[in-house]
Amino acid sequence: MRSISAATPRANWSLPQVAGVLALTATLVQSQPVLKLETTDANTGRPLPARFSLEVNGVPFQPDDVGPHGLRFLSLHDSKKQFRAITYTRGTFPVEIRLPESSREVTVHVAKGFEFFPVSRTIQVSDYSEPSEMRLNIPLKRWSSLTLEGWASSDPHLHYDRFSRSANIDWFVMMAGDDLESIHFMMLKGGKVPSEWGAQYGYGKRGEAREGPRLITAGEEYRDAAQGHVNLLGIHKIIPPIMAGRNGIPNYPFLHDVFLETRKMDGLGGIAHGGALGTQTTAALDVVLGAADFMEIANTHLYVPDLWHRLLNAGFFIPPLGGTDLPNYPARDPWQPFLGGMRTYAKVDGQHDFSSWKQAVKAGRVFVTSGPMASFKVNGKDIGDKIALPAGGGEVEIDAVLKSPIPLTEMEVLRNGLPLSCDIVKKNLGGVHHWRIRKKLSINESCWLALHGKGSPIKALDVDRLKQQPWAETSVIAQTGATRVLVGDKPILSREDRDWLARHLQRQREFYETEARYWNERQREERLRHFDDAVRKLKGLQ
Ligand SMILES: [Zn+2]
Repeated sequence: MRSISAATPRANWSLPQVAGVLALTATLVQSQPVLKLETTDANTGRPLPARFSLEVNGVPFQPDDVGPHGLRFLSLHDSKKQFRAITYTRGTFPVEIRLPESSREVTVHVAKGFEFFPVSRTIQVSDYSEPSEMRLNIPLKRWSSLTLEGWASSDPHLHYDRFSRSANIDWFVMMAGDDLESIHFMMLKGGKVPSEWGAQYGYGKRGEAREGPRLITAGEEYRDAAQGHVNLLGIHKIIPPIMAGRNGIPNYPFLHDVFLETRKMDGLGGIAHGGALGTQTTAALDVVLGAADFMEIANTHLYVPDLWHRLLNAGFFIPPLGGTDLPNYPARDPWQPFLGGMRTYAKVDGQHDFSSWKQAVKAGRVFVTSGPMASFKVNGKDIGDKIALPAGGGEVEIDAVLKSPIPLTEMEVLRNGLPLSCDIVKKNLGGVHHWRIRKKLSINESCWLALHGKGSPIKALDVDRLKQQPWAETSVIAQTGATRVLVGDKPILSREDRDWLARHLQRQREFYETEARYWNERQREERLRHFDDAVRKLKGLQ
């Protein structure tokens, strides 16, 4: 896996391929269409960085060169053969794009995160008297400003090389182009490719970069073939062996200890991909024992909330997170941002350092989205809060809103993971789909509530290899963190889910007793003790 964030060498495709036409080069180049593209703020007219993509004569066109005022990023995933060139305007001067001589019709798509309207414009080359001077200004209109309400957007799951501090200049442009406040890189070791991927020039504070409200951090995705994948954000030292449970390395260290080590380094550690990857993933174990800080339930191509629901139902409060896992599935629909195509909004209340972001995530003040903006209030309190009801229970007032220029298809208020029957008021206000649920709900048993939504299918994810996967999600989704409603001093406790988790852990204990590998017997005993402690904890819940 490699990445190139600088402009690639100019491929001079514009030169005629046929030797006999070479004499005409000068005139042809002069009449060659050149698009001068500018993206600006619709309110102020100021240039703004944004992602753009092109179609020429109805066919996607990726320019080889976008000049000094554009940015062309090549995303490569060697083993999956997923390559994609992504282009941005830098928000300085117009980007000059040389178009094929055969261009008749040019469509420009511009996207800037989820809170600006995506724009598509089609122009006819024949409408310009000077095709070498086709100027196009695309004003971008913001329809949502969650930052003003204290929210910050982040992509907490990226794997690209960042060999030096100087690379950050381009990353900040891409973050601005995709309207993201923070991105979090994680190095890892490949299963198929033996080398390290997504290497960073520094970790912890050394690997961190700030520019205004924008933050970049470096960490590690630690993987074990059996225990699963975990994301360790903001750590200052790599935890070895990075990839375990294969190539002669036993299933040691335990992810449980890897998480504790992460906390010691002031990092943030959680389960990756909803615990879906790994032959005997210890996601439930690590949450029950209180070692994991979050559970990533969504990536660009994946949504796996089931285990997260079960853990919440059994009373284990664990915040959800969502990030792209780029360079996996880099293809995008024209309206989608590239970085943060799946992202997490966290309520940081105007603070933009890693520690504040980490606290917001740990408190569950988050929602995960691949498009819609979510608002979820219970008795006026925000996502992640606790509501205390008297011992006899009471009524709460739910006010849930989903907004998106991309069509919505589903909206549900979940209680302990199950949808409540609700009336949805559906409107379209100025081009934004605006769905709202207001509901009074009597509650006599402690529970958690959250908002879930779904939208249009993402065409770029309509690929066969994805459809065969049980965890695949190819439509737009939104999922808020949980709000707890506690009746009296009773904890949230679904006995069914508690028993399911206990059975699940007991089954896994067998695998970790007989099939998992360790360096020595003491490690096996310690592992089994983890399972026994977790099962005892579950059984002790009343
Ligand atoms: Zn990953």
